[in-house]
Amino acid sequence: MSENMNRRGFLQLGAMAGAAAMAPRWVLAQAAQATDRLAQMRAAGATTPIKTTKLYDNVFLLQGAGGNMVVQTGPEGKVLIDSSFSTAVAKIREAMDALSKDDASHTLINTHWHIDHTDGNEALHAAGFTILAHEKTRERLATPQTMKLFGISLPAAAAGALPVLTFDSVMHVNHNGDSLDLVHFDPAHTDTDIYIHFHKADVLHVGDIWFNGMYPFIDEGTGGSIGGMIKGSQAALGVASDSTKIVPGHGPLGNKADLQKYHDMLATVRDKVAALKSAGASEQEALAKKPTAEFDATWGKGMMNADTFTGIVYRTL
Ligand SMILES: [Zn+2]
Ligand SMILES: [Zn+2]
Repeated sequence: MSENMNRRGFLQLGAMAGAAAMAPRWVLAQAAQATDRLAQMRAAGATTPIKTTKLYDNVFLLQGAGGNMVVQTGPEGKVLIDSSFSTAVAKIREAMDALSKDDASHTLINTHWHIDHTDGNEALHAAGFTILAHEKTRERLATPQTMKLFGISLPAAAAGALPVLTFDSVMHVNHNGDSLDLVHFDPAHTDTDIYIHFHKADVLHVGDIWFNGMYPFIDEGTGGSIGGMIKGSQAALGVASDSTKIVPGHGPLGNKADLQKYHDMLATVRDKVAALKSAGASEQEALAKKPTAEFDATWGKGMMNADTFTGIVYRTL
C-alpha cells in the first residue's frame, strides 16, 4: 500500500508541478520539501523509538515519528488513540506489550484522518484492533484525499484501515473502569477532528487542534481554518481543569495554561492578519508585514515556519 501511495503521490506531484509553472517559486519549493519530509517521516517511523510516559495508573503517552498516541490498558483490552505511520506499528506494539500482554479485544480511536495519525490503521486492525472514529474520518479515508499545502495526493485507504464504528457528534465509552467522552469539534484543523477525554485518569487528547509550542498546520483543503482552530482550542479549554494532562497532536505533553498560551497566540495572529486583509493587503503584502514577528522566536521553529502559517491564516479567514 505505501509503495503505491508513494508512486501515485510522486506522479501526481509531477503533474502538479508541470501545471503549476505559474505558481510562485516558493510554493513549488515548499511542496517538494514537504513531500520529501513525508517520505522521511515514513522512513523515520521504522527507526524512531517509541517513548512511553505514564499519565495515570493505566494510561500512557506514546511518542514516536507520527502524531502523539495514548494507550489505556486493562482487563477489557487496550484502547489506543492514533496509529502513527504503518512503518512504526511493530514498535508501537512492542511498547504496548511492555505495558501489558493480553489476548483481549482492542480498540483504536483516530483523532482525525491525517496520514501521520492513521497510516498504521490497517496493520493494527490486522492485529485485532477495532477502529473507531468520527464518521467523516471514515469518509475521508475511504476516498482519495489531497493535502493541498504539500501537493500530496493519497489514494483511498485499504478496507482494513477504515473505522468500523463511527459517530456524529458525541460518543461515550465505558472501559477498564474509566469513562471516555469522544466529542467532535466543529471544523478546525480538518472537518474530522475529535477529542477524547478520560474522566477518571483526567487525560485529554485533543489531536491536531493543538501543536504544543509551534505554529500549527491547518488543513484548509479538508475543512480547516484559523477561526475553527481558535474555537476548537476554546472548546478544549472548556473541558480541561488545571490538573488535566492535555495531549497535543504534536509536541510535548501540556496543561491548561500551555493550551491557553497557544490559544492566545492564535487569536492575536488572527486579529493582526485579519486587519491587514480587511485593509486590502494581498497575501504577499500581508506576509511582508510580518504579522507574527512577536511570536516567531518561540513558535516558528516547528513544522510550520512563520510565512507558511501566516499564509494559511490569511487564506482561511
Ligand atoms: Zn498530525
Ligand atoms: Zn493533522
